[in-house]
Amino acid sequence: MDLRQHIRTVPDFPKPGILFYDISTLLAHGPAWKATVEQLADAVRPHKPDLLVGIESRGFLTAAPLAVALEIGFVMVRKKGKLPGETIRFTYELEYGSDTVEIQKDAIQHGQRVVVLDDLLATGGTMAAAIHLLRIAGADVRAAAFVMELDFLEGRKRLDVPVTSLVRYE
Ligand code: 5GP
Repeated sequence: MDLRQHIRTVPDFPKPGILFYDISTLLAHGPAWKATVEQLADAVRPHKPDLLVGIESRGFLTAAPLAVALEIGFVMVRKKGKLPGETIRFTYELEYGSDTVEIQKDAIQHGQRVVVLDDLLATGGTMAAAIHLLRIAGADVRAAAFVMELDFLEGRKRLDVPVTSLVRYE
């Protein structure tokens, strides 16, 4: 199935001049979303993860059904302040300001093989920060997987793990 035709582009969102790739239309189409999860499963399975990690928030939508398909667990990387109990945080710089990602301290056992999921790879800053945090938490990060990738931003160059994406925009 060609997933591309189910992804809507929205001009000038969230700011003027930005073209937003919207997966709402993909999620809303049952067969297309099922095919998305199946294609991700085929791409991720060879990395033999013990666990999947999803990045808030559309990474959750991607990682949760994939974890069911692969019959493994799923862990959340969230924006700061949303997870109960003991956590580990990592703050990273953005173009304007900074952001913090967080994971529960006991979410990953040392050396567990994980694959990290998000809906879209743009500059790679979000995924690079998540991978850094996961390594602090003891994970063996095997790969990063996305539904969409904006090739022209060269985000995969910032990532030191194998990158897989289903739909690439040049
Ligand atoms: P990066 O850190 O790679 O520059 O940006 C990727 C992050 O921003 C991802 O978490 C992704 O969900 C979000 N993002 C940036 N641009 C878009 C877009 O056009 N569409 C969607 N769905 N997410 C985007």
